[in-house]
Amino acid sequence: MLEATRCGAGASGRNGGFVQSSLTHGIGNGLSRFPDELQQLERLGLENFHALAADLDELGIDAEFEATGDLVVALEPRELADLEEEADLARRFGHEAEVLDVERTRAEVNSPLYLGSLCSRTGSALVHPGKLADGLRAAAVLAGVRIHEYSPVRELRKNAAGVSVITDGGVLDARRALLATSAYPPLLRAIGRYIAPVYDYVLVTEPLDQRMHDELGWAGRQGVSDMGNQFHYYRLTADRRIVWGGYDAVYRYGGPVGPQLDDHEPTFAKLSQHLFTTFPQLEGLRFSHRWGGAIDTCSRFSVFFGKALGGRVAYALGYTGLGVAASRFGARVGLDLLDGRASEATALTMVRRRPLPFPPEPLRTGVIQLTRNRLAAADRDDGRRGLWLRTLDRLGLGFDS
Ligand SMILES: Cc1cc2nc3c(=O)[nH]c(=O)nc-3n(C[C@H](O)[C@H](O)[C@H](O)COP(=O)(O)OP(=O)(O)OC[C@H]3O[C@@H](n4cnc5c(N)ncnc54)[C@H](O)[C@@H]3O)c2cc1C
Repeated sequence: MLEATRCGAGASGRNGGFVQSSLTHGIGNGLSRFPDELQQLERLGLENFHALAADLDELGIDAEFEATGDLVVALEPRELADLEEEADLARRFGHEAEVLDVERTRAEVNSPLYLGSLCSRTGSALVHPGKLADGLRAAAVLAGVRIHEYSPVRELRKNAAGVSVITDGGVLDARRALLATSAYPPLLRAIGRYIAPVYDYVLVTEPLDQRMHDELGWAGRQGVSDMGNQFHYYRLTADRRIVWGGYDAVYRYGGPVGPQLDDHEPTFAKLSQHLFTTFPQLEGLRFSHRWGGAIDTCSRFSVFFGKALGGRVAYALGYTGLGVAASRFGARVGLDLLDGRASEATALTMVRRRPLPFPPEPLRTGVIQLTRNRLAAADRDDGRRGLWLRTLDRLGLGFDS
């Protein structure tokens, strides 16, 4: 395995730690894109979710996995009807989901902004992403995988027997190669059309003291997210810090990715302000950590696959901000495709079809900024999706994180 920097330095080691069974960025998105196979996708997603939890047990990885379930909270009256719809949808696909009214919601997590919530108890957990990445790395080494870190791959070339993998230090000849380069500059031109790297930012507070914790409640320790197009996600860590991220999803011209983009003061300022509006009782709490990370956004918001160089190379990417569990599924399917092994998953439309591509620059930046702008406007305008968003909806195009 060749890794450009250190295993876990990408999104896998710096995400919010929400482990979700959905392979389709939620049931609603799955239903709009793969209506005929969503039942199957949900089943495969749940199997994958449980298998991930079992892997951690079997491999002895302590990644602070907690089967907490999650809460999706309504902050606007209009969102209450959406909660009921989402609950029905979740139950239709076999999940345990219940709508909580304002009192029950605030009894779970005490915010004066909450008007109600959807409480899901299945297919949702929390994990410490850094510990998960480190644990999986150690387990792979123990299983005999040779990992070469700080070995960026510069190019792939077809050779007689397989593929030549070009690095700065030498050339590696392989029979086959699986690419999982996420939001980073793709090694195949074909991938670049489908992926827009979008930056998401996260703040972490100092540990809550007993008084603050008592005022918040949060005894169930669920992961929480709100419902706007620009949404926040937040959760408690094992040492009772709050991880608070999301809202701005920043795309920059040309889609650069790198450590110079990990800091973004305007977004951190907004996130901090939003945390104290949500939880005024935490006034005075300080932040101990902050970072950013790149998300491999694609227009259908879920992993896609492909093959190149005469079938010697396969790729799996495009998780669009929901890949902690789905990347386990993506890796297995990618390996099956590479080895020409037919499986239930390789026959899925979701696996066989790619998303609609994004336009090239400079149009790409224009379209993404316009879409972000319209999504924010819809949040301000009672959720009403204007002409631009409705047109994208009809075309099956979108932008999310
Ligand atoms: C801030 C943030 C919060 C998120 N929150 C959540 C969440 O709560 N729940 C959830 O499910 N998902 C979340 N996600 C998304 C999730 O983290 C990703 O979908 C998932 O980790 C993708 O895994 P991956 O292995 O495909 O990519 P990555 O973890 O990004 O790994 C790709 C690796 O490829 C390496 N690489 C790239 N190019 C080369 C090259 N040329 N040569 C060698 N190596 C290369 C990189 O160095 C990197 O280590 C979040 C993402 C971010 C950024």
